[in-house]
Amino acid sequence: MVIHRPDATLAVEDCPTPALAERFGTPLYVYSRAAIESAWRAYDQAFAGFDHQICYAVKANGSLAILQLLARLGSGFDIVSGGELARVLRAGGDPARVVFSGVGKTEAEIEQALAAGILAFNIESAAELERINAVAVRSGQRAPVSLRVNPDVDARTHPYISTGLKENKFGIDIQAAEGLYHHAASLPGIAVTGMDFHIGSQLTELEPLVDALSRSLALVDRLEADGIPLAHLDIGGGLGIRYEDETPPTPAALAERLGPLLAGRRQKLLMEPGRALVGEAGLLLTRVEYLKPGHRDFAIVDAAMTDLLRPALYNAWQRIETAEPVDADPRLYDIVGPVCESADTLGSERSLALRPGTLLAIHATGAYGFVMASQYNARPRPAEVLVDGDQAHLIREREPLEALWQGEHLLESP
Ligand SMILES: *Cc1c(COP(=O)(O)O)cnc(C)c1O
Repeated sequence: MVIHRPDATLAVEDCPTPALAERFGTPLYVYSRAAIESAWRAYDQAFAGFDHQICYAVKANGSLAILQLLARLGSGFDIVSGGELARVLRAGGDPARVVFSGVGKTEAEIEQALAAGILAFNIESAAELERINAVAVRSGQRAPVSLRVNPDVDARTHPYISTGLKENKFGIDIQAAEGLYHHAASLPGIAVTGMDFHIGSQLTELEPLVDALSRSLALVDRLEADGIPLAHLDIGGGLGIRYEDETPPTPAALAERLGPLLAGRRQKLLMEPGRALVGEAGLLLTRVEYLKPGHRDFAIVDAAMTDLLRPALYNAWQRIETAEPVDADPRLYDIVGPVCESADTLGSERSLALRPGTLLAIHATGAYGFVMASQYNARPRPAEVLVDGDQAHLIREREPLEALWQGEHLLESP
């Protein structure tokens, strides 16, 4: 374990968290380099028997230094905006290993991605296909495309992060996809190269993925028979992590379960893990500002929903622990932030021994943590630190107050 408790004090690799909080202040995101790299390698090794490419889902955590680490390992990237493409390029990522997902790609984003030379557009609708064709024809190019099929399987995860059912906005109904493939193959600005799906996030069972894959493979075979061979097949991301007591499948279990279905196929296998690569590699450190006993016992901390939105947005449960020994009796606390919203609760009824000033760690916050941070209530966004052994690198500075009005203009006239 790289996030561990060698004594009463929580450490990330060889850096005790109280020293990190002292040096960089709180709230503070801390990531373990070793945890990220070993999660990526576990995925890569699990699929070593296949011609494959990991395309890390940037939206889980897009900090430049993290993208840089992954690019150095040879990772590709799954992006959902032109902004994410710019980040990947800035961090040294290879555009030829980038796939572009998302239901609302603008013309400017399509132009940007074509100019960069990405691996594939993951197309989510007939209208998007037409737009990409038009942009490509205009610039004298052929856009490599994959259709994101919606296989209509229930990922059996939280409804907010389930994407593979007919009623979700994502992907193209698998029944309609076949016709659209034929149309795509006839368009002058389109090169049909692949098929993809992504059925949801925080998956704790493999069956939905197996179903999605077999439905997709049936279509791949029909297309091939009709003279539309595909070069790649992209199984999306979605493997869960441990927040509480889940036992999500490992990449090795995933590869073992999907292996028989994929054996003997010529398609290159792509995958788009996000959370599974970075989620458990991160902590959010926060300090108790006040204890407020009463009808409920509140611990008011210096982190808020503006720093970590998942509890407010998804009613998500995140493990919260004291990071250092505390001389106090445990009580049931609601851990709340300073923001003027009742939704600003990071955890309810947690048994913790607290005093004002106690340092807390919120676990498994490496994914969908900082990326969702905002400046609501004029709160500067927190700093981020990457730990590597006994070294701690500041990879993002805490925002100064001036950042709160960057790009704003006062009226010049009276
Ligand atoms: C969000 C997303 C992912 C990553 O999901 P995780 O659950 O973080 O692995 C992959 N692909 C697409 C298309 C996504 O929208």
